Amino acid sequence: MSTYRAVEVAADGSLRLAERPLVEPAPGHVRVKVEACGVCHTDAFTVHPRPESEPARVPGHEIAGRIDALGEGVTGWNIGDRAGIGFLGGHDGVCNPCRRGDFAGCENQPVTGVSVDGGYAEYAYARESGLVRLPEQLSAVAAAPLLCAGFTTYNALLKAGVRGGSLVAVQGIGGLGHLGVQYARRMGAQVVAIARGTDKEPLARQLGAHHFLDSTAGDLGDRLKELGGADVILATAASGSSMTPLIPGLARGGTLMVVGASEEPIEVSPVALLYGTIRVTGLITGSAIENEDNLRFAVDQSVAAMIEQAPLADAAAAYDRMMSGKARFRVVLTMT
Ligand SMILES: [Zn+2]
Ligand SMILES: [Zn+2]
Repeated sequence: MSTYRAVEVAADGSLRLAERPLVEPAPGHVRVKVEACGVCHTDAFTVHPRPESEPARVPGHEIAGRIDALGEGVTGWNIGDRAGIGFLGGHDGVCNPCRRGDFAGCENQPVTGVSVDGGYAEYAYARESGLVRLPEQLSAVAAAPLLCAGFTTYNALLKAGVRGGSLVAVQGIGGLGHLGVQYARRMGAQVVAIARGTDKEPLARQLGAHHFLDSTAGDLGDRLKELGGADVILATAASGSSMTPLIPGLARGGTLMVVGASEEPIEVSPVALLYGTIRVTGLITGSAIENEDNLRFAVDQSVAAMIEQAPLADAAAAYDRMMSGKARFRVVLTMT
């Protein structure tokens, strides 16, 4: 039996290289020969010590490659097609959210690299409904981070109702924020980048920000209000408490759109909700076809992630580099 290399989480939480048997895809699934896989902060959901009784999981949900085997019943794809796989691994089409057309809300959806094996590997398996067509203009390496980080910020801005001329503040110029600034600018917004200190100001302006606010210098709410109040704040920091001071900076009817994951609460006063009619919401990526919209938009509007590449065998170091916050800005594993 032939095997392939995969990087899996050992019981002690470390990442180790392993050989896995190459098997045929299950009905309704495809096998993808992985060309590139992004390393995302959400991989921390998987990379931690786990009981010996659980299978050693392969992380990674920013997968770009080519289909090399079709399971029974797959009709929409052919061997050789380029395909991406993101965080949400494909809807079932039969649960109540699916029946209402909310495919991202599917109650029986695999979470790539979390509940099923992901893309830190030479091969990955995925449900047909989770597959994302890759535009030919995008290389696998360029596409990988757009499948989760890019898509998250793109869809968050759209779902928050960004229009041409909206004032959009992007909190955090990191893995998500450096993409959020680009998407917001290309959607026609006036963009305010917010980061700690002033080191990232030149980069933020180069990416498309009209304004830059240092979060350590004065009240963020007041300064956003001086700019007219934000119609949308895209909050990317993995810290709920850092989002609370942004809320007074929303315009009437404005939306705090959360994409940075943390357990920390965000505080909002009922008065701000009543008189400001503001919204506080969030989202996790979206459906596969929305991701195709995202990739097309990124190609047409020249939105690109800043990338550091590493070979699969160096996945553990690449993961540590991402977690250190020092990567500029997305780390992508390559398989060949
Ligand atoms: Zn991700
Ligand atoms: Zn469903």
